Amino acid sequence: MAIGGRSHMRHETDENWMARGRCNDQPPSLFFPSDGVGVEIAKRICAECPVKEPCREYALANRIDHGVWGGTSERERRRILRSRRLAAEAATSAR
Ligand code: SF4
Repeated sequence: MAIGGRSHMRHETDENWMARGRCNDQPPSLFFPSDGVGVEIAKRICAECPVKEPCREYALANRIDHGVWGGTSERERRRILRSRRLAAEAATSAR
């Protein structure tokens, strides 16, 4: 139960989607891999998960640095945040 293992990060409004995560019956360590192979294994589980979107957005909103969340690695989330920030800056300067 990976999400259960992450319960210290829980937020009341997040309970609903977390309970439906495919990782609930998996060891938490699987979602905190130490190499690229481990990342791919975790991402394969996330790919079939019905709550992939809220999970990824939760990790992005809370700037969670470690682990695979919503099918994204730490590096991918950093990339998403950077591109969103650049898009927001471009939108602001275009006004
Ligand atoms: S997307 Fe992945 S990490 Fe998130 S709840 Fe689903 S299986 Fe767990």
